[in-house]
Amino acid sequence: MDSASGSNDPADPPAGKSTATVTPPPPPPPSRYESQKRRDWNTFLQYLSNHRPPLTLSRCSGAHVIEFLKYLDQFGKTKVHVTGCPYYGQPSPPSPCGCQLRQAWGSLDALIGRLRAAFEENGGRPELNPFGARAVRMYLREVRESQARARGIPYEKKRKRAAAGGGGGGAAGGVKVSVEVDGGDAGGEGGGGAPGDATV
Ligand SMILES: [Zn+2]
Repeated sequence: MDSASGSNDPADPPAGKSTATVTPPPPPPPSRYESQKRRDWNTFLQYLSNHRPPLTLSRCSGAHVIEFLKYLDQFGKTKVHVTGCPYYGQPSPPSPCGCQLRQAWGSLDALIGRLRAAFEENGGRPELNPFGARAVRMYLREVRESQARARGIPYEKKRKRAAAGGGGGGAAGGVKVSVEVDGGDAGGEGGGGAPGDATV
């Protein structure tokens, strides 16, 4: 980093000392992910402020998040056939039908990932994160499965490494397996040793 100050600089200007107009590099523009995350966060805050009855972030639960996701469906662009539609389960129907457009599962999943991160970056406590709520995970799974059926998308069961899919985050959440060893009478008492035949 000291190339500018070297004395053996061949391009040394003879006259003035007005060297080094150090222009600080402009801060790197936020990545697409970051700016998308900010937009999503603002959208959600906007949604909260329009909510009736009024809703604050701190009172927001997984159920509200699901409500938000359903609200977003009206802006969706993915045709999801209802079970009564003749094209149910067809990936590319030959003609249009009256089924509604919805948000694709992948979009919702990614959105939740961004909002979940944004919540904590904005001071929310992880254990109170409504975007990480179990109900939200269940809802997303439901959407994925029903959309896969409705749109004729084959399941990808082959790959075990779903990690590359992004977003989801480990299901590290609430599952606490409490192994209960019922101690009962197996306690310390009797176990005094009593070795069969003590080798003297
Ligand atoms: Zn349809």
